[in-house]
Amino acid sequence: MRLLIVEDEPKVARFVERGLREEGYAVDVAVNGEAGLDLALVHDHDLVILDVMLPKMDGFEVLEALRAAKRPCKVLMLTARDSVKDRVRGLDGGADDYLVKPFAFAELLARVRALLRRSGGTEMEPAALSLADLVLDVKSRKVTRAGRPVALSAREFSVLEHLLRHQGEVISRTRLSEQVWDQHFDSMTNVIDVTLYHLREKVDRGFSTPLIHTVRGVGYVLKNPAA
Ligand code: CA
Repeated sequence: MRLLIVEDEPKVARFVERGLREEGYAVDVAVNGEAGLDLALVHDHDLVILDVMLPKMDGFEVLEALRAAKRPCKVLMLTARDSVKDRVRGLDGGADDYLVKPFAFAELLARVRALLRRSGGTEMEPAALSLADLVLDVKSRKVTRAGRPVALSAREFSVLEHLLRHQGEVISRTRLSEQVWDQHFDSMTNVIDVTLYHLREKVDRGFSTPLIHTVRGVGYVLKNPAA
């Protein structure tokens, strides 16, 4: 998997580049729109992470040129906070997804993985995540416990996927709100607790070994106490 980052802020570019390399991706970096387009036209990138505000050519112009050249790469746009206009313009222009700055690296990585999955590229991760007899199929988005299907809402699924990816780690409500809800409000606490309540009802109820545990005052952890 080869990725291209087009980003003129050195700090952001470096942080994203380093993180993605650690995840095993090959990464190219361009510091302005023109250089980014040149690289994207010459190399076969699976995904381009494209900032909107760029010197020489802005992200929209680069996107337009990429799509005009029929480049098959996925494009993830980085837009400024609250700029609904930019997001709409990017998606209309053929971007596959967008991420609002500033973002957490985990969030970027989740978007990158989702886009690469959609592009049908080589899997860098297992098709299923599991703990004990709980299995979550990443591709078909189906969950089973002891072989029986568990019907989850989209949000419950995202929470469970996050917990499974970080099983054994205590996940704070703040982290859940940022990474699953994509926002951080104090008022989120109730929403998260209600979602977790439903998730536990579906995943753990009727089983002798509960897998989702509350850590009082902190958040939640997914673990198998019998292991
Ligand atoms: Ca910029």
